[in-house]
Amino acid sequence: MSNINLIGEGKITVGKIVCVGRNYVKHAQELGNEVPEFPLIFLKPASVLIHSKDKIVHPNYSNELHYEGELVLLINQSIKNADELTAQNSIGGYAIGLDMTLRDIQNELKRKGHPWTLAKCFDGSAVVSDFISKKQYRLTLNETLSLSVNGQIKQEALLKNMIFSPAEIVKYISSKMTLEKGDIIFTGTPSGVGKVVAGDKIEAGITNVGKLFTEII
Ligand code: MG
Repeated sequence: MSNINLIGEGKITVGKIVCVGRNYVKHAQELGNEVPEFPLIFLKPASVLIHSKDKIVHPNYSNELHYEGELVLLINQSIKNADELTAQNSIGGYAIGLDMTLRDIQNELKRKGHPWTLAKCFDGSAVVSDFISKKQYRLTLNETLSLSVNGQIKQEALLKNMIFSPAEIVKYISSKMTLEKGDIIFTGTPSGVGKVVAGDKIEAGITNVGKLFTEII
């Protein structure tokens, strides 16, 4: 079973991983996509999850492994058709995460109109830092998300540049499927995504929330 570490409270078993695509205007534009009217949602199985300091094994069937640094939410109660206040209250903690993506495979799948599964769901494709609970830190969205590869900054954005806020995302997802305690939500990446190869080291963080480190092998 995959789990996350909630600082001060210990390990929590992860249910499902829900991800949002195209949640920053500049990132939608850099990939030539329209800015969405509703959050674009896809899933990853919990079994792909790894933690800071674990290594990412580069799949041998892709030539374009991309990093995507993202704010990750931890759900702390079961909700369905939540209103915005309930959605807000069901967010129990935050982390920095990487939604690793095989961009060449994704582009091929998009062209064919197929699901993104094989581009998004390989072992190690979701990386998370430890989670900080909302009791310890309350997100203001004035925090900065940053990501560097081999010490060079590649992504840097304020969380308030997200198109859909954390509460809006949780509310929307809960209108389509039940969210349960232990589910985690990747909220989308800002612009600056790019390719990494074996040997590259990724460091990512969100102000006051956390940091993660990983290496591609
Ligand atoms: Mg993403």
